[in-house]
Amino acid sequence: PKEKLKDELLSVTSTKEWDEKAGFDSNENESTVSITVVGASGDLAKKKIFPALFALYYEDCLPKHFTIYGYARSKMTDAELRNMVSKTLTCRIDKRENCSEKMDQFLKRCFYHSGQYDSEENFAQLDKKLKKHEGGRVSNRLFYLSIPPNIFIEAVKCASSSASSGNGWTRVIVEKPFGRDSESSAVLTKSLKQYLTEDQIFRIDHYLGKELVENLSVLRFANLIFEPLWSRRYIRNVQIIFSEDFGTEGRGGYFDNYGIIRDIMQNHLLQILALFAMETPVSLDAEDIRNEKPKLLSVCQVKVLRSMRPLRLEDVVIGQYKSHSKGGVTYPSYTDDKTVPKDSLTPTFAAAALFIDNARWDGVPFLMKAGKALHNKGAEIRVQFRHVPGNLYNRNFGTDLDRATNELVIRINNKVPGLGMRLDRSNLNLHYAARYSKEIPDAYERLLLDAIEGERRLFIRSDELDAAWALFTPVLEELEEKKIIPESYPYGSRGPVGAHYLAARYNVRWG
Ligand code: NDP
Repeated sequence: PKEKLKDELLSVTSTKEWDEKAGFDSNENESTVSITVVGASGDLAKKKIFPALFALYYEDCLPKHFTIYGYARSKMTDAELRNMVSKTLTCRIDKRENCSEKMDQFLKRCFYHSGQYDSEENFAQLDKKLKKHEGGRVSNRLFYLSIPPNIFIEAVKCASSSASSGNGWTRVIVEKPFGRDSESSAVLTKSLKQYLTEDQIFRIDHYLGKELVENLSVLRFANLIFEPLWSRRYIRNVQIIFSEDFGTEGRGGYFDNYGIIRDIMQNHLLQILALFAMETPVSLDAEDIRNEKPKLLSVCQVKVLRSMRPLRLEDVVIGQYKSHSKGGVTYPSYTDDKTVPKDSLTPTFAAAALFIDNARWDGVPFLMKAGKALHNKGAEIRVQFRHVPGNLYNRNFGTDLDRATNELVIRINNKVPGLGMRLDRSNLNLHYAARYSKEIPDAYERLLLDAIEGERRLFIRSDELDAAWALFTPVLEELEEKKIIPESYPYGSRGPVGAHYLAARYNVRWG
């Protein structure tokens, strides 16, 4: 079918024409959405953005009138873009018979414009093309900046001045990293706000899929058995753990500039912590404020971040993986990666003990751990409960650490966003993937759809970003100024021993 399509694809030049071919009435006064993928020739666009857009189209989630434009400096024709995109589209959602037909229809709505990221003139040319497709309807425009961060601002400036919508909304999705400390993040926010308002900016965090966020909220707020336990009265400590079982493997250039604290902890793990620990929004149940829910939840998350005790250097352990041979295979050191400087002090592992100084969590350690080249991969939240007072079965155990404890383990699956839950040593076992057979959407699909619908819940607000940087920036600066040498750990191990001492100081044993 792809061969057959080639000629047809080349012949379609506008959404209007497509609408006519597909039997839509082009004069209908409905709004239209134009989605421009800026950096369309890149890896992320190919691997994630176009496939996610196709999945949304396939599920009939995109508006009736939409056009997708790829924008980058590379020279490409519409047909070449379609050919490139077609290689990564899959019918993974379900294998309905008309999948390839849907793919063809989708590709016909994809176009390409070659231009510089800092050229108002090139964006003005794009604007002209978009207008042609929009055919005089109310036009909404979404720009997805899938480009390196150092060219964000130029692209935003040109897109907003020369290609923003005249009569509908204009929104911009920005990928992380959002700066590398409080100062650079504030500069980025300030520069973005020269050209856009906060409600036009959608800072994407691909890690936080809707399923995770919603399941964590539902687990807490909709289960009578959990919410009453969610405080220092019953919870002894909380561990938020992220591990990868591979290193940077030749792609450490980007990572070396940031390190594991900026790459994983300051954003992903901290957001999970905020979701986990936030106060119950007062009016969460009220029907009439349904639209306010997202805002209420975000406000609660920011609040919890602001009540966190400043992080001290002595509550942080950093590590870097070293070469290790096992079973005749030698695994490399971080600094063996040719894209990493030989004397790099960038941490590939970090553990931190954090505290929330409010009535609910006073004195409860929140331990975070994130690392590359560890013995396993996964992400989980472990909640260790207090001992049952006078528990008959604990009497004969020695130290506090050795006592049996109830533990709730919430596993976060990266590939298929969802949530498995296991209450250790009991029979409560809800495994999301096993329970629900339908394919769970990729996080990008959810996020793109939310951006089109103006739903901001899963995007990072600037006040949340400021609070997250405020917590980590002083420690990051201290680590860099004092040139603290990361503790070595063997590739494929459980990480440096320092992490165990840190946990033990707070009477915690890592799960
Ligand atoms: P790429 O490095 O592939 O860049 C995307 C496009 O931007 C390139 O195809 C190129 O297009 C253009 N470009 C690259 N470098 C420069 C430069 N120095 N100056 C001007 N243009 C340049 O990036 P990715 O697609 O991997 O990622 C895009 C964004 O998403 C980045 O901000 C990245 O940090 C972020 N990200 C990526 C993830 C991934 O899995 N890849 C995951 C999470 C975030 P052309 O030459 O045609 O103009």
